[in-house]
Amino acid sequence: MNRYFAYCGLNCETCDARIATVNHDDNLRKKVAALWSELNGVEITPEMINCVGCRIDGVKTPFCESLCRIRQCALEKSVETCGACSDAMVCEKVWMILKNNKDAQVNLGLNIAELGE
Ligand code: SF4
Ligand code: SF4
Repeated sequence: MNRYFAYCGLNCETCDARIATVNHDDNLRKKVAALWSELNGVEITPEMINCVGCRIDGVKTPFCESLCRIRQCALEKSVETCGACSDAMVCEKVWMILKNNKDAQVNLGLNIAELGE
């Protein structure tokens, strides 16, 4: 499995938080913080925009480190990703992400058509 794929199938390599982190780009950190604050309705500061990736050892955003239910669940289950989880096809947590993101489905080797929707 590509090490940049998060447990949920999103690609951390294309995430602006990771790009800002690895490039030490404070201007991008500010942009990401402002956008994510607006999208999520909570204050996210530029200092929080430090993340090398969901399944990569190193710094994470506070959300990805400890609040993301998917990451915590996958760590508890010790699965490589949600794609390797026996509950994946009936998991409302991961399908909140996957239902609108075909790329993430493909990254995990899952297919919404198999849900019968
Ligand atoms: S784990 Fe980090 S790099 Fe991956 S999507 Fe979340 S914030 Fe972005
Ligand atoms: S139960 Fe859901 S969130 Fe947890 S590891 Fe399985 S697919 Fe991922």
